[in-house]
Amino acid sequence: MSKILVKAEQVSVKFGGLWAVKKVDVDVKAGEILGIIGPNGAGKSTLLNVLTGLQRPSAGQIQIDNGYVSKKDAWQMVKMGIGRSFQTIRLLNELTVIENLLIGGHLYTKRGLLDVLGRTVRWRKTEQQITNKAMELLQLLGIGHKAQEEISALSLEERRRVEIARALMTRPKVLLLDEPGAGFSPQESDQLCELILSIRNRGISVVLVEHNMKVIMSLADRIIVLDHGQKIADGTPKEISEDELVIRAYLGG
Ligand code: ADP
Ligand code: MG
Repeated sequence: MSKILVKAEQVSVKFGGLWAVKKVDVDVKAGEILGIIGPNGAGKSTLLNVLTGLQRPSAGQIQIDNGYVSKKDAWQMVKMGIGRSFQTIRLLNELTVIENLLIGGHLYTKRGLLDVLGRTVRWRKTEQQITNKAMELLQLLGIGHKAQEEISALSLEERRRVEIARALMTRPKVLLLDEPGAGFSPQESDQLCELILSIRNRGISVVLVEHNMKVIMSLADRIIVLDHGQKIADGTPKEISEDELVIRAYLGG
């Protein structure tokens, strides 16, 4: 049985009178691609926020590598091996592609601010290593040739690739992607599928929120379905596509 990297137990999030997420259990196993689907407003992004420490759950617990992390913040989650991209792209538009990655990469190093200010030899060596890592990831993502371009000059698809590359800078064990293919052409979606598979083949688990059923069904090892904040199904793509509740709530049957 594969190791469980992230375990959410009975997690709930309440906004005012609304339960955005209600008593959801999720396991993310080593090396798997876990799909999360559900209609708009089902609680998918909120669940990702909880899993990445951006949103404190109103109830329930999160474990990463068997340690409880409910009291940790997002920055500590990054150090524990959780990386993510956002539904709304969060890049610094006036900076170049590589600069955006270097900002992400500095999160990962243990070098403190004093090192940065002091510009020690040790720091410069680290900086070179981070730059090399960034270039390697940009190449993996097929945008190495855009390294020196400003984000503002990039297409939507290229920006999403940069976001994924930046998330990988922190060397996550689990990468959470919130609708990485939104607005993509069919051809761009196919390339995204290949990319996600190549990330998983590097041993990184992927949690994927995605509306495109073709993408989800072909990629995911397992899918969970949310509706009104609740998990209504959890199974293989085949099981999900045959589930009566899912068909009624989501697939429009
Ligand atoms: P999804 O990603 O599945 O579309 P969300 O997680 O974004 O759904 O939202 C779930 C529900 O929680 C929605 O009804 C949304 O309006 C509400 N919601 C999300 N974030 C907030 C917030 N910060 N404050 C209040 N309500 C929110
Ligand atoms: Mg969302």
